Amino acid sequence: MTKKGMLIVLSGPSGVGKGTVRKALFEEPDIDFEYSTSMTTRKPRNSEKNGVDYWFVSKEEFEENIKNGEMLEYAKYVDNYYGTPLKYVNQTLESGKDVFLEIEVNGAMQIRANVPDAIFVFLTPPDLVELKHRLVGRGTDDIEVINKRIKTAASEIKMMRNYDYAVLNDRVELAVDRIKTIINSERLKVNRVMPEYEAMLGDD
Ligand code: 5GP
Repeated sequence: MTKKGMLIVLSGPSGVGKGTVRKALFEEPDIDFEYSTSMTTRKPRNSEKNGVDYWFVSKEEFEENIKNGEMLEYAKYVDNYYGTPLKYVNQTLESGKDVFLEIEVNGAMQIRANVPDAIFVFLTPPDLVELKHRLVGRGTDDIEVINKRIKTAASEIKMMRNYDYAVLNDRVELAVDRIKTIINSERLKVNRVMPEYEAMLGDD
């Protein structure tokens, strides 16, 4: 039997830099996670590509996916749906590959309830003022959306207590190192390696 892959969930408030940290992590030569592309009803930003940054779908299509039980998790975030298609994650984990998700906090908590051995990492900002600057400075959203995101971020930060690990994103390369430390020690956990030892030791 193939050993099941590991599911790692990177989450945290909008604007904290989840996307940047994830992209930097995936450039590391020793990281071979499969990234699960999310589905959203939000409109693509300038350079975003369908199937790469997100699967961009209509509200009706998204709701159809929910109804058919095809989402591992989903959440409504600032007037749009975001969610993780179930099939890709399950198939990849079953094939023994590790899967990486980058999602907001409500969706992460749905996974916490359904996938007990997933790993939950919360990316934290150095402070809230800086978080606001990042949301404004990104320049991709209008002021009304930015204000909603700032309000959401303040409540999202309180969710940190529900996570396994807190990773400070003071500098991208430091945050990446911290996540690599988590991944490396998770790989050594007894309950993850036990199947290999059982095969070695036999049945008695
Ligand atoms: P953005 O519109 O900035 O791309 O994303 C808004 C928020 O939605 C971010 O916090 C992002 O991490 C989150 N997000 C992206 N994909 C998913 C997903 O599949 N599920 C959930 N719950 N949140 C997601």
